[in-house]
Amino acid sequence: MEVQSAMDQSSAHTEFPTNLRERRSNVDCAVRDSDSNQGMSKYVPDSISSGAQRLKREVNKRYELVKFQALPEHLKDNEYIFKHYRADWPIREALGSIFTIHNETLNIWTHLSGFFVFMGLTIYTAMKMPSYGEIPGMMHHLPNFQQLRWQSVTDELTNMVAPQPQKPISRWPFFVFLSGAMFCLLSSSICHLLYCHSQRMANLLLKLDYIGIAYLIAASFYPPVYYTFMCNPTLRNTYLIGITCLGLCTIAVSLMPMFQTHQFRPFRAILFASMGISGIVPCVHKLLLHWGEPAAQTTFYLEMTMGALYGLGAVIYATRVPERWKPGHFDIAGHSHQLFHVLVVAGALTHYRAGLLYLKWRDEQGCEAM
Ligand SMILES: [Zn+2]
Repeated sequence: MEVQSAMDQSSAHTEFPTNLRERRSNVDCAVRDSDSNQGMSKYVPDSISSGAQRLKREVNKRYELVKFQALPEHLKDNEYIFKHYRADWPIREALGSIFTIHNETLNIWTHLSGFFVFMGLTIYTAMKMPSYGEIPGMMHHLPNFQQLRWQSVTDELTNMVAPQPQKPISRWPFFVFLSGAMFCLLSSSICHLLYCHSQRMANLLLKLDYIGIAYLIAASFYPPVYYTFMCNPTLRNTYLIGITCLGLCTIAVSLMPMFQTHQFRPFRAILFASMGISGIVPCVHKLLLHWGEPAAQTTFYLEMTMGALYGLGAVIYATRVPERWKPGHFDIAGHSHQLFHVLVVAGALTHYRAGLLYLKWRDEQGCEAM
């Protein structure tokens, strides 16, 4: 009867895991008290001691993965993923779960590994920045930049990051993009890692995640717009101010509580996608201004590839394919959010490649208006 009662309690808690931390600390006290008084155990009734042990077992079970039905309402995001959820985990356990298998493991690592890749690219790009000392005529004052090059495989990349320039151009727009990529990927990883802690934490981290996406999209405009319209400051500043305002408006909308609800998933996808699609305007404008310029055409193709990768990612995110087709079969690997993450990293890497071409183009040709 007592065993049955414990089982009933256990299943009831699995269904409604609220106030777990409070319960856990009470139970920990009870168990600690029980342990510290072992010397007096002969004075403690068996039913109390075994009750504390049973509660401890029950609490430890809380850090086990649960099914969708057992989730609190704010964590019920994707009904096509059945199992392997973390729910109401303390920060320490949630942080430790980065190295364990659950249905967010690959969501965390797809963007965290992307973050490390972009951090490496940022350091590499910063190290290879040309200085005015490389301008012909001043080369004899400084070490020969060519001697610092890596060989073979990296030669092409190095030459794109820092070709022998006529007049080195500003790198800051490229670093705005790189900072956007790193911020987006890192905030997304943190969100997926700690989202399971509490509703308050989930709301906060989702806002951070959406800010990261808007920041990445807006920051992605900076290199193409800056380097395309470098010789026309009015046009360049108009585009840059326009996309910055659009990014800030998107962030303001994404901070609204209703924006984070599950019902708004398609709206979120449409909002971010349309922000990205608006990039078609400066892209076409670039082709009209620089028709016949190989760098303008190549960067245009790369930008279209990036748009296609982000667009496909948005469609997969909104439709929740493939888990919609086979619910429960992609809980750990292969579900839509992981595919969306991989496509975001691929799109950002494509944009990095385009950014290098812009630097090479403008470093070589310069701009009389500068
Ligand atoms: Zn995500």
